[in-house]
Amino acid sequence: MRQFIRPTVTPPVLGPLGSGGKLRQKHLDEGQPPSSLPEHWTKPDVRGALLAMQGHVCAYCSSELSQAASDVEHFRPKQAGYWWLAYTFQNYLLSCKPCNQTCKGPRFPLQTGTSGKSFPERHLLHEEQTILLDPVADPVEDWVQVSLDALPNDDFLKLTPSPGAPNPPRIRDAIRFFALNTKIESMRARMAILQRTAEAIRQGTPEAASELAIRHRPQSLVCWQLLRLSAPDALPSVERELEWLLGELCDRLREKLRLTVGPSVSNPDTKEIEELYWALATLCKSPPTDQPAAVFTYLKSPAADLPTSVLDLIAHRYARL
Ligand SMILES: [Zn+2]
Repeated sequence: MRQFIRPTVTPPVLGPLGSGGKLRQKHLDEGQPPSSLPEHWTKPDVRGALLAMQGHVCAYCSSELSQAASDVEHFRPKQAGYWWLAYTFQNYLLSCKPCNQTCKGPRFPLQTGTSGKSFPERHLLHEEQTILLDPVADPVEDWVQVSLDALPNDDFLKLTPSPGAPNPPRIRDAIRFFALNTKIESMRARMAILQRTAEAIRQGTPEAASELAIRHRPQSLVCWQLLRLSAPDALPSVERELEWLLGELCDRLREKLRLTVGPSVSNPDTKEIEELYWALATLCKSPPTDQPAAVFTYLKSPAADLPTSVLDLIAHRYARL
């Protein structure tokens, strides 16, 4: 798990003229749980804005996400009394299906003896004593660590509360809730990253591993933590992370566009292309570095390798944000 920087955009479908935005206003006006909640959160402008925030990693378990195997997940679940947040971008995260559908579902556990806020108390949400960590609001890297102590250690490569983190039992519960220490693929990925990072440090070239610490990469907390301890100068800056994310999104876009040239254009591919346009438009509008000019410069550079027609399509979406 890593902390993400949420773009300050409103995807058009959630804006005042969008289908989701209109429903949100209706719910606020009526103050009653609606009978149905159409899935406007799956629209490409919403998913694209979340890709711009997270890249292709799950907000909870840090596994790699594909377009088909990812969900827009409501941090405060719409079926758990938070219906008025069903069309609020700030309540959305991109997650893998196991985290969203198996671990979480409509649950939003709160600390014992506390209760959630209802619609009339909605301005007091920040007072809720949640169990789950919020990957945007909470300083995840300060509260959660990967146990890297030498063997024998039952916690080796497991996530545990950091020394000094507030309320360690709560953090342990949050880790257990998403089974962050029992998914075999996650543990394997952490081991591989640990080995590559340790080897780079041993060879005196920690910067060779710094890309593995980028928050948009799977299980990156392992490398981030190791570099912070051993070679903090090699930690990637937010600017470097953004450049990497732009490169990754452009690579995927070019690949998808290449696949769709020809007679058979599959629907998942066209959906993903549309999401990637929106992701890049979102980063142009609201980059985590607050330097939009650098994003435009990158997209027009040979490194991005995007044809003018594609840049025009991104600009068209940018104008709608
Ligand atoms: Zn996940």
